[in-house]
Amino acid sequence: MAGPRRGRGRGGLVAAVCLAAAVAGCGGSAGGGAVPSTARAGASAAADRGGPRPPAVPAAAAAPAVPAVLPGPARAEEETSSEAVARRADAARAALETTRRWGLARLPLPAPQPPAGRPELRAAQGVKLADGLPPVVYRVPTEQPIVFLTVDDGAEKDPEFSRMAAELGIPLSTFVADYLARSDYGYFRRLSEQGDAVNNHTINHRNLKVLDYATQRDEICRQQDQLEGQIGTRPRLFRPPYGEYNEDTLRAAGSCGIEAVPLWNEEAFPDRMEYRYEDQRLHPGDIILTHFRGTDLWPGSMPDLLRKVVDEVTAQGFALARLDDYL
Ligand SMILES: [Zn+2]
Repeated sequence: MAGPRRGRGRGGLVAAVCLAAAVAGCGGSAGGGAVPSTARAGASAAADRGGPRPPAVPAAAAAPAVPAVLPGPARAEEETSSEAVARRADAARAALETTRRWGLARLPLPAPQPPAGRPELRAAQGVKLADGLPPVVYRVPTEQPIVFLTVDDGAEKDPEFSRMAAELGIPLSTFVADYLARSDYGYFRRLSEQGDAVNNHTINHRNLKVLDYATQRDEICRQQDQLEGQIGTRPRLFRPPYGEYNEDTLRAAGSCGIEAVPLWNEEAFPDRMEYRYEDQRLHPGDIILTHFRGTDLWPGSMPDLLRKVVDEVTAQGFALARLDDYL
């Protein structure tokens, strides 16, 4: 069954996009031109590009005990530079082809490697800390040019949307309400299997603020149990419906094992983004909210929505990272 670390399983795909981005010059980022540090440091890929390769002699000299005719796998890879270049070119072509196929304006910027451990939350703009309660977070404190996409509720279960996110290497954190998801938890199980997080958004999606503590606790804890049973992982993150909460909500959530309560600074629709702040742009660590909604309620499909978000995020010089790796 699903283990909590499975969320990192998308590394290969991200790495492929990253590698491709390194070769392709990250598709020409617009605003600020910020390239996450791993894209720069990640690789010998970038360093190799164009420049003459150093002679193989130093590597051989560093390990004289290994016969030159039987190089270890790593060295073999290092030494066959034309093959490595060809592989990178193939990866770049594949990434560009994927980008075009989904109709994106340009290659998404690669997310940096997630931190080894989740950083401890400090008091900052966009973070509300209170003793003994899970923190409420509108923006994750970070200097990196990353933002996070969160998808709520669960009414529309569009397989094209999950396929698009997987093929583009876009990580999602979802917040699922049982009454909308229960007709097909398999959809969310598959999202979880492809590395996306499935988090708690209560059983019935009621406005918790008007409910007493016991009822709030029931709404949150029962959804913890339900998701653990259906998905195989007990969520660490919880988002109250409508973003409405009081101290009872946080106390109840904490008692059900919730570690953080992410809200949002931007909301995305298939045809536009809405910004909380007057500068009308993204900031490092911003959390973007959107919903599993279909064309019955929206002027576009879920893939239209993802295209809008990714293009907007890329144009502003940001990469989409996985919220659950940072909170
Ligand atoms: Zn909701």
